[in-house]
Amino acid sequence: MPTYQYACSACGHEFEVFQAFSDDSLTACPECKGEVRKVYSAVGVVFKGSGFYKTDSAGKSSSAVIPPAAPTPPPPAPKPAATE
Ligand SMILES: [Zn+2]
Repeated sequence: MPTYQYACSACGHEFEVFQAFSDDSLTACPECKGEVRKVYSAVGVVFKGSGFYKTDSAGKSSSAVIPPAAPTPPPPAPKPAATE
């Protein structure tokens, strides 16, 4: 369940609300019933406990790790044969 952060534009009250994606956004400040707006920040939406990242406890499993691309040097351009 993501956490949405809201800030009231009327009184400046900031609060977080757990909402599903399908839930409607809040529009009224719980403090003053004023208009609120969503605050989008790096920590505004947090996914908790949904097991997005299991690599830490997956032991030897490294299936989620993308192997580094091996540097492949470009093939040498074929030189035109000297016909002289
Ligand atoms: Zn308010």
